[in-house]
Formats: sequence, C-alpha cells, structure tokens
Amino acid sequence: MPSDPGPDAASEDWLVAARERVRVFAQYEGAFREEADVVVVGSGPCGAVAAYELAAAGHDVILLEEGPPFTVRDFELDGNLSMTRTMREGGLRMTRGTVMPTMQAIALGGGSLVNSAICVRPPDAVFDRWATGFDLERTNRAELDPHFDAIATFLGIAPTPDEVQGRRNLLFRDACNALGVSSEPIERSVRGCRGSGECFTGCRSRAKQSMDVSYVPAALRAGARVFTSVQVQQVHSIGRRVTGVSGQVVAPFSRGSRRGRSHHFRIDARAIVLAAGCTATPVLLKQSGDLANASGQVGENLQFHPGLAIAGIFPEPVDPQFGATQGYQSLAFLEEGFKLETLWAPPPLLSMRFPGFGEELLSHFAEIPQMAVWDAIVSANRSLGRVRARWRSLDPVLHWAIHPEDVAILRRSLKVIAELFFAAGARKILPGVQGIAEVMTSLDQARILDSDAVRPENLVLGGNHVFCTTRMHGDPTRGVVDEDGRCHDLENLYIADTGIFPQCPSVNPMLTGMALARRQARLLGQRL
Ligand SMILES: Cc1cc2nc3c(=O)[nH]c(=O)nc-3n(C[C@H](O)[C@H](O)[C@H](O)COP(=O)(O)OP(=O)(O)OC[C@H]3O[C@@H](n4cnc5c(N)ncnc54)[C@H](O)[C@@H]3O)c2cc1C
Ligand code: SF4
Repeated sequence: MPSDPGPDAASEDWLVAARERVRVFAQYEGAFREEADVVVVGSGPCGAVAAYELAAAGHDVILLEEGPPFTVRDFELDGNLSMTRTMREGGLRMTRGTVMPTMQAIALGGGSLVNSAICVRPPDAVFDRWATGFDLERTNRAELDPHFDAIATFLGIAPTPDEVQGRRNLLFRDACNALGVSSEPIERSVRGCRGSGECFTGCRSRAKQSMDVSYVPAALRAGARVFTSVQVQQVHSIGRRVTGVSGQVVAPFSRGSRRGRSHHFRIDARAIVLAAGCTATPVLLKQSGDLANASGQVGENLQFHPGLAIAGIFPEPVDPQFGATQGYQSLAFLEEGFKLETLWAPPPLLSMRFPGFGEELLSHFAEIPQMAVWDAIVSANRSLGRVRARWRSLDPVLHWAIHPEDVAILRRSLKVIAELFFAAGARKILPGVQGIAEVMTSLDQARILDSDAVRPENLVLGGNHVFCTTRMHGDPTRGVVDEDGRCHDLENLYIADTGIFPQCPSVNPMLTGMALARRQARLLGQRL
C-alpha cells in the first residue's frame, strides 16, 4: 500500500493539467457508458478520500460528482450569490417541523469547498456511546487514530497560528481565559492561510485544502477518472449485488430544470461507494427501488448539530474582516452537550441575525467594524427527523424536530456566550433571539437567555452538520451499513458519507467522515 504523498504544492492549476481525466460539462458530446472496478458517487470529503485510497491501491476508479469544479475565478465574494452557485436549493434548504436552514454543497469537493476546514477528532466518550448503543466493536479512537493521523499529514492539519487569528478570534481566547474556561486554536486543514475570513465563499488563495485541491488531484494522479456535472439517478442491482449506476449529465447551476439536463450515462462497476451526502444518499436508495432498506432505517434517524450565534459589539475596532474564518474553540462544555467556536461570514449572511429594519438595521451594519461573532453547536442526539424523497426528484424533504432537552442546552450555550462577550469587554450583544430584548448591554440582562422566555421557535438556528440517515449498526435489523460501511443487504454496495454516523459526533464531522471512509476504502480495496 503506498503511503499518502500529500497534495501537490503546484495544485493551483491542477484542473488544467488533469483535463484528460476530469470531464466537465462542455466535454460531454452524447450518451456514454463506462466500466470501472469501483464507482464512487460524490466528491465531498468522504467520497474523495475513498476514491483516492482505492485508486492508490491500484483499482480502476471513477468518481462521479453532480456539481462543477470551481476555480478561483469562479468564486463570488457576495455571500448570497456564492450560495446560489455552490449550495443546493440556493442555500435555502430548510427542515420542516422545527424550521432550520441546512446547507449542502453541490460542487467538486462537496462541503469542503465552502466549509471552514475545521478538523477535530471526537473524544473517547463519543465512540463509547457509539460502541454500546450500536453494537460497534472497532469504531474507536485506537482503531481510527492511524486514519486521523494519515489524513492530518496529507492535509497539513494544524492549530491556527496567532498571526492569522485576527482580533475577533483572540478576543474569544481572552474571554475564556478571563472566565477560566479552556480554549484552543482550532486545528484546520489549510496550508498558508492568510486569514482572509472568506472560507464560506471559497478560498481565493487556495490555502484551504478542500478536496478539489487535495484528495481529488491525488486520486487523479493515482489513475482515477473524475466526471463532474453528472447526476446519478439510479443504483442498479441484481439480487444481493449492485451492478452499476446511471443518470444524466446536468448543466452547472441549472439542475432541476428540464433544460438543464442533457445526455444519459451508465457506469458498470464491481463495487459502488455512495458518498452523495447524508441527505442525498437515502433519496438515491429510495429512488432505486428502496434499495438496502430491509431494516427500514434508510432515511430515518436524521440528526444535526443545530447551531446558534451571538454578535458582540466592542468599544474599540475589532476589524473582523481579518482573521481565520473560525480560528478559536472551546471544548470545555462538550459533556454538557455543546461546543463553542468563533465565526465569520459575509455580512449579508450575518445580518440575518441583526434585529430591525431600515435605519435600525443599517445602524447594526455600521457597527460591523467593532463586531465579533461567536457560536455554539449542540450535540442534539435526542432531536430526530427523517429524509423523504420528493416525487420524481432527488431533492429531499427533511422533517426534524428539536427535543425540549436540546432546547435547554441551546439556552445554556447562549448564556455562556453572553458571559464570554461581557468578560471580554463587549459593550453590547445582539443575541439573535426573537421575543426578548434584541440588544443587551449587561450580563444581568442576558440572564434571560437561559430561561423559558427563549422559545424554541424564536431561535435563529442553522444546521450544516448532518448525520445518521443510513446509520452504521452491528445489528442488520437496526442499521443500514455494517462497521465496514457495507450495506447489510448487499454484498458490494458501500456508503461512506456522514449518513453512516450512528449519532452526531459532538464535534465538527468532516474529519471523522474522512477517517471512516479511509478505513472502509482500504478494506474494500482488499476485497476486490
Ligand atoms: C457552510 C458549511 C461549513 C462547514 N464547516 C465545517 C467545518 O469547518 N468542519 C467540519 O468538520 N464540517 C464542516 N461542515 C460540514 C461538512 O462540510 C460536511 O459534514 C461534509 O462536507 C460532509 O461530507 P460528505 O462527503 O459526507 O458529503 P458532502 O460534502 O455533502 O459531499 C457529497 C457530494 O455528493 C454530490 N452528490 C449528491 N448527490 C449526487 C448525485 N445524485 N450524483 C452525483 N453527485 C451527487 C454532492 O454534490 C456533493 O459534492 C460545514 C458545512 C457547511 C455547509
Ligand atoms: S481564512 Fe481565508 S486564506 Fe484562510 S483558509 Fe479561509 S479563505 Fe483561505
């Protein structure tokens, strides 16, 4: 087995160099049919790692991605425009029940193109819960640490250095120190980050090691073929074996409209790895004749890390446009059920949390130079939902409801963030909760944040970490895949995205998904 070489430093123009083996929309001239040892569906963190590992082991791999590749010229700094191009449903996908926006990317590299590159290993306690609750024997830190280590080396994962933290991140550190709360620089998969704070709209300096500049080029160098702008619509099977996938070439940014669709394709393969993402894979299975669903668990158990944020206004300039998008965190409250982080996003997106209209709204925009934003993500593993297929569509319907005990954790996290802001010297905070004071100027006033006055329907939540819709379980009657990621019902169908997590991981999920995908691809490679 070759060792991971790490991404090519000259990867900026890799797409040009790799043109022969990366197909883009303009290159499709008609229907086509191909064969491979393995077809991997989805080029996000999990699919890209799986494709690389299998290709590096000498297998003929085709990686299929519905979205287009993005070059630096394609990135839009305007947050709204960026979302319409890089996110499904223009970034406006929502859950029903408890209404919450949830973003899933549609791009070569999947979520890694637009995420903050945070890479955190879950603590032992998370894996202990998975082991006891889901009959899993080998999914623990001892077994996964070599995979975490290999990915960390490959992607250059390291703590964010002080030079690129910027004041809004360092204020968080100072606030934690003042209150005796542990905190640390966030470990991220970046090389040469300049602290431009624009991870959500794409890293223009290509410092972020998103999959399109790291694992996908490595997979190409190992011999994989990559087809972009192809939407897989069906997984084909005979008895207990899958035989291939088929679908349609789709024009970038116009999928969903009939005019956006063009040629049909089919790929036959000896094994299939579905890594289309937690909300897409179950729909694909349902639309393929309810495949892999003897357990009835496909599309069930949907979980999120619901997140919320508070903006704090300081008396002096913070210059929040400078600094790593998310540079500091605190894991001190993980056992209580939440993780704290610093956060930045394009101001039009942040302003969704600003109160008021007209002049009042503009007055908050005017305070952006003195602003910092800190967030909490909550381990809401009691708040469950499900994914359903829409009629003749691969877009999901997401039902989800926040559990009262998780609302209590959200309230508590709000109060802790408020305490941190006032400890750091903030002059006021915008808690972003409707129905209570929209602006708070003292800790005394902020005590209401941890009370019943904060109604769940009045919280401005976001849930970009999504899990469990094809969960891993040792018992075939209670889960979709086994501990190796192989579907219990099918001999050669694997699932590798964050849908296989048995529960939310309590920390940012990308690294865990990649480690599981790496383990799984190495096992599959030996079986082929
Ligand atoms: C704004 C944002 C910030 C985030 N920040 C972080 C962070 O800093 N750290 C972290 O750990 N996590 C973060 N996350 C979450 C993280 O990005 C996801 O958990 C991760 O990308 C999931 O990886 P995946 O491979 O399972 O799926 P995805 O990344 O969703 O990749 C799935 C891919 O499959 C493709 N696909 C779907 N359906 C089809 C089909 N039918 N045919 C062909 N292709 C298809 C999609 O287009 C997509 O590219 C963030 C998410 C968002 C949205
Ligand atoms: S903060 Fe800026 S330079 Fe650093 S990884 Fe994010 S987008 Fe790239």
